[in-house]
Parts: sequence; structure tokens; C-alpha cells
Amino acid sequence: MTDTHAHLDFLEEAELEEVKAHLGELKAVLTLGVDPGRWEKTLALAQGNVYAAVGLHPTSAHLLAPEVEEALRHYAKHPRVRAIGETGLDYYWTPETQRAQLRALEFQAALAEELGLPLVLHVRSKDGQAEEDLAAWLRLHRPRRVVLHAFGGHPALEAAGLEVEAYFSLAGPLTYKKNEALRKVAQRLPADRLLVETDTPFLPPEPHRGKRNRPHYVRHTLAKLAEVRGLSLAEAEALTDENAAALFRWG
Ligand SMILES: [Zn+2]
Repeated sequence: MTDTHAHLDFLEEAELEEVKAHLGELKAVLTLGVDPGRWEKTLALAQGNVYAAVGLHPTSAHLLAPEVEEALRHYAKHPRVRAIGETGLDYYWTPETQRAQLRALEFQAALAEELGLPLVLHVRSKDGQAEEDLAAWLRLHRPRRVVLHAFGGHPALEAAGLEVEAYFSLAGPLTYKKNEALRKVAQRLPADRLLVETDTPFLPPEPHRGKRNRPHYVRHTLAKLAEVRGLSLAEAEALTDENAAALFRWG
């Protein structure tokens, strides 16, 4: 199984030891370093079956400056880096930086295009406005090889994602009892665009809610995906492993 979205640099040393003891259960893990102070550590963690992404999270978009752009371009060329991000729009935590977020998104989309890397997108808002804006942005810019991380099932974003052949990465919320709507969406998304992730240490799936997440907990999200798609666990695992390997090119 593959965890296409984790933040291993957020873990304490003891937690990392536990994660490492379970890495053999995973085909690959993508760990994302989301602001300039995290890029070095993220690259240091990208060994064995752990690969890296570097980017500027929308809640850190105000940090964008010419020297930060240069540093990001430098780190992005590291051979263990397989994606740019996460970037996107977050009006939930930082509604006041919308313009900076859009600039940071456009810079990172251009960098991903320049380096031939996938772009990992984050989106969050109270009222769906960030999702609407990101859907409009996708339609306008039509990026190639884009991932909608922790996809929540927003209809406009689903439609725009389908138009640009985005990958839809499903996280722990797929397993939450109340989330029947997301399971309906997961049922109809194109098979070759499905990914699973944990967003470690956030968004733990059932039965680990209330705890800190771990990459190997992706098993629970994968099992739920298998159930809603009418697949065996092995089939769902093979499908999502192949999709991730094709996108991030880790063979
Ligand atoms: Zn993340």
C-alpha cells in the first residue's frame, strides 16, 4: 500500500521510530515539507521507500519572496523530490492572505511544469469558496499531473478535477461514519485516478480517531475504498499502488 501524503517532519523522534518499524508494510510514502524551515529535514527523511515533495503551504504563502522561490527551485531539483506542494487555497485558517496564496499557487504550478513534477493541491474553507475558486483555477490553467489531496467531495472541484484528469487522493475522512456523501463520490471516481493517503499526523482514520496518524494506518482508508468500490483489499491496494507509481514515478 502507498501513503501519498504524510508530514513525517511533524513527528517526534519516538513516533518516527514507530513509523520506521512499519515502513516495510508500505510500497512508498510521500512526505511533504510545507515551508522553508522544513525542506532540509524533509529531504533527510526521504530515504528507502520514502520520497519527498517540497512546497509552500497556503497558510505559509505570505512567506513567498524571491529568495524563497530560489530556495524552493533548488530543493525541488533533488532526486528524491517527486512532487511540488502542497500548495492551494486555504480560506479557513488564513482568509486574509488570499492574494498571496494565489501568487504562491501560480509560482508552484509553473515550477512543477518547468521540472516535470506533479503538483499537490490543498483546499479548505468554511463555505466552499476556496473549493469554488480552486475549481475555477483548474479550469483556467489546466495543469498536467495534479493531485487533489484529502479530497473532500466538493461537487465543483470534483467536476473540474475530472476535466483536467486530476488524481483524487482519499484520506481518513472516507472512513468516518457520517461521511456517506464522500463514499458515494469515491464510488464513481475514475479507477485510474484514485490514490490513498493519511496526511500524517493529522486526519486519522477509524479506528484511530483522536490519535496522531501514521502512514501504515492508510490500510483502514484503503479497506474502506475497497468496500465502496466492490474490490478485494488486494485489488484496491494494487490499483492505488500502480496509480501512485505512475504519477510519482518511483517504479
Ligand atoms: Zn498536508
